[in-house]
Amino acid sequence: MDNQTFIIDFDSTFVSVESLDLLATISLDGNADKDQKVKQIADITDLGMNGELSFTDSLKRRLAVLEANKSHLKKLIPLLKSEISPSFEKNRAFIQEHSDSIYIISSGFKEFIVPVVADFGIPEDHVLANTFEFDESGNITGADQQNPLAGDSGKIKVVEQLNLEGEIITVGDGYTDYEIKKAGLATQFFVFTENVSREKVLEAATFVASSFDEVLFAKQT
Ligand SMILES: [Mg+2]
Repeated sequence: MDNQTFIIDFDSTFVSVESLDLLATISLDGNADKDQKVKQIADITDLGMNGELSFTDSLKRRLAVLEANKSHLKKLIPLLKSEISPSFEKNRAFIQEHSDSIYIISSGFKEFIVPVVADFGIPEDHVLANTFEFDESGNITGADQQNPLAGDSGKIKVVEQLNLEGEIITVGDGYTDYEIKKAGLATQFFVFTENVSREKVLEAATFVASSFDEVLFAKQT
C-alpha cells in the first residue's frame, strides 16, 4: 500500500446517513412544523442536485431552516458514531494503521466529522470540511464562506491544495466525489454504493464498490 492516498467522502459513505438530515431530526424535534421543515430541507437539496440552485445557496437555505445550535451538535456526534457504514466499521484496524494516508473530504462540517473519525485515528488536519459560524448564544448562523468547501467545486480546490503525489484513490457516493477524478486529481474513483446508489454517479464511474472491502481488495491485487 506504499505511496497510496485515500480520499474518502463522509455523508452516505463513511457514515450511512446524511449528517444534516440527521441534525434536522434533532434540532426540529418538538417543532410544530417539523414535517414541513424536514420536507423543505429535502426540497432544497433536490433543487441543488438538479442544478437549479448553487451549492452555496442550498447550504445557506438549509442551515436557516435547521435552526440548530451547539447543544444539537453535541447530540448528533454519538448518533453519527452509531451510524458508521458497516464496511468501514469492519476495517477500523486498517484505517487506524493507514490513517496518515487517508483524508476525509466533505462538504459537511468539521464540528461533527472530526470527533467521529478521530475514533479511527484520523487526525484533524486530515479532515477537510466546512466549519459553522455561531452567534453569541451558540446558534448556527451559517458556514464560513472563506472555506472553499462552502462554494461550488470546493472538493476540487482543496484536493489541488494538498499537492498529493503517488496513487490517489477517491471513494464516495456523490457527483462531487467523481469530479475530483474528472479534474485529473485522482488516479481512480470508486462510486460507493453501500448506502445509496445515484444514477448520475453510477453512469460516470468506472469502478463500483458496494463496500470498502471491495476498494481494498481491488487495490491489493
Ligand atoms: Mg456523500
